Amino acid sequence: MTNQIQIADKTFELFLENHTISKRTRLIGIQLNIDYEDKCPIFIGVLNGSFLFMADLLKEVEIPCEIGFIRVSSYDGAESSGKIKETFGLPDHLHNRDVIIVEDIVDTGFTLNYVINEVKKQKPASVKVCSLLFKPAALKAPIEELEYTGFEIANEFVVGYGLDYDGLGRNLKDIYREKTVPADLG
Ligand code: 5GP
Repeated sequence: MTNQIQIADKTFELFLENHTISKRTRLIGIQLNIDYEDKCPIFIGVLNGSFLFMADLLKEVEIPCEIGFIRVSSYDGAESSGKIKETFGLPDHLHNRDVIIVEDIVDTGFTLNYVINEVKKQKPASVKVCSLLFKPAALKAPIEELEYTGFEIANEFVVGYGLDYDGLGRNLKDIYREKTVPADLG
């Protein structure tokens, strides 16, 4: 584990260590086991960012469940365009099912709102969202389905544990945040 890393033109500093993420994930898993007792939910991970969180979270889930992944076309670089074009791989048997969408991060909420709408077209019994990270200050419209959140963070750019910067950094065990240069030095 290093305290500072460089990815392309950006410097990042250690923010959330893996053991902190694991502890929070365990607690969310326990809550899911209670909330979905006697149900058989379908977890849908939004790729690519959710792959590590999804794997670790589902190891804590002990109720019967189905697991799937979808992809949505996303934006490049560090800024959200809010333009979501398409969803790939959405299961087509969501009618009357309890769906839990698993995200790495909710920023503006555009991605999630799009996915929630696509899921709701199939008239599921319920739809909830579980996101590892949530940036409340960046959210453009409230998402009432956002039930499970790992960490609320400030409006800053993060990488690691599934999250990338220009395709790199997804494999990092810990989460790092972009190091900002103080204004008087910048
Ligand atoms: P939203 O549609 O909520 O603005 O953005 C959701 C997606 O944007 C996430 O799934 C993620 O891919 C990307 N994203 C948003 N904020 C960050 C961030 O701080 N770091 C990284 N690496 N990706 C982010």
